[in-house]
Amino acid sequence: MRLILMGPPGAGKGTQAKFVADRFGIPAISTGDIFRANVSEGTDLGIQAQRYMDQGEYVPDSVTNLMVRRRIDQPDAEPGFLLDGYPRTLAQVEELDGMIAFTGHRLDAVVVLTVDAEEIVGRLLQRSEVEGRTDDTADVIRRRQELYAEETAPLVEVYRDRGLLIEIDGMGEVDLVTERILTALDPVHQS
Ligand code: AMP
Repeated sequence: MRLILMGPPGAGKGTQAKFVADRFGIPAISTGDIFRANVSEGTDLGIQAQRYMDQGEYVPDSVTNLMVRRRIDQPDAEPGFLLDGYPRTLAQVEELDGMIAFTGHRLDAVVVLTVDAEEIVGRLLQRSEVEGRTDDTADVIRRRQELYAEETAPLVEVYRDRGLLIEIDGMGEVDLVTERILTALDPVHQS
């Protein structure tokens, strides 16, 4: 299974990605998590990424694409993977197409979580208390939402046109949302 999980900041992608990936025995690859790990380890990549992340901006495609390419090349991603937070730009879509084609596989589905804006702000503010993410402040949240609308939301239509899109209501209990995703992916998994 080669899957993408999309949705605006705070839609619950990270939480759902882990459950769904576990179910299919594939790694959940979160570009945000990889960047955060590099920031806390103080690597060159972390130093490059941090200034963008702190402002809610996207890390440049060249940096992000190379990082994903290396991650996908790891042996645990050979049977498949679930991408959380990538691709976020049209250039990243093209790059990912190339990476997957190179391995002789194809993308199976793109799941997009839909949530209402008010719920999202509440979730993000709660997360800032629980996780202490430095990019969960009101200004940075606003910028991340703007960028999502401008750069990432158009990707939904790209994948819809390819017949890969699965829209899932992301509102409600975590378990319920997981169940919705797994039910929708069942026929994809069977085929
Ligand atoms: P996330 O944990 O997915 O919300 O990502 C946190 C931050 O990491 C984002 O606000 C961006 O600064 C950066 N980031 C994560 N994924 C990407 C990506 N695909 N392209 C560019 N920047 C990214």
